[in-house]
Amino acid sequence: MRALQELFPEISEQQLSRLVQYADLLCQWNQRVNLVSRQDVTRLWPHHLLPSLILLKIFPLPPGATCLDLGTGAGLPGIPLKILRPDLELVLVDSIRKKILFLKMVLDALNLTRCLALQGRLEPNSAPPQLRKNFDFVFARAVTSLENLLPLARPLLKPGGSLLAWKGESDEPELRQAARKLGFRYQILSVPSRWHHLSPKFSQLRIFQIFPED
Ligand code: SAH
Repeated sequence: MRALQELFPEISEQQLSRLVQYADLLCQWNQRVNLVSRQDVTRLWPHHLLPSLILLKIFPLPPGATCLDLGTGAGLPGIPLKILRPDLELVLVDSIRKKILFLKMVLDALNLTRCLALQGRLEPNSAPPQLRKNFDFVFARAVTSLENLLPLARPLLKPGGSLLAWKGESDEPELRQAARKLGFRYQILSVPSRWHHLSPKFSQLRIFQIFPED
């Protein structure tokens, strides 16, 4: 919590209480539905919530941006980002029905609007008509390899839209190789060292911004 206040001193009481409520619901449901690993329940803030939210400190997400969280699982990174940035239009997608049931309950309990949870398996190089070319950003954290991710994300993005993939330092060679092969533009976002003490994930975390259309 101290880490959260240090990163986001402007956070409101309501946002803080929504984050706490989300973490509580996740812990409760995790006993029945496998949302995050058993050990991770005790370290949700440093391992999941802060690494999701850190995007806001290192990347300027434009106001009202349309975002899709692909393979959202328990709602990561989408739900924490939506709590801090209620202006975002967010669609959460996962293939597992129970995870979507959990997310619908969360959206309801936290009273989050302009946010949808959809069950479905996204397929490479195709997208349901209502999702096609609709998003400024596709988020993906811990979903699949970049090689698999790009064909899933590409049909969802508006022209000029980009994929934001939560990866690690060790994935940088894979990124460079894929960029050479497929010829896309990218940038690598990392967490400034002054914040590394706030989460054990921060020093290795890399968020790849990829423009698959170029
Ligand atoms: N992003 C979350 C969950 C990671 S687990 C987190 O950071 O914790 C990966 C999730 O992606 C699983 O819940 C799985 O069901 C979902 N998934 C994988 N491939 C998918 C696809 N093609 N379409 C929809 N969901 C997918």
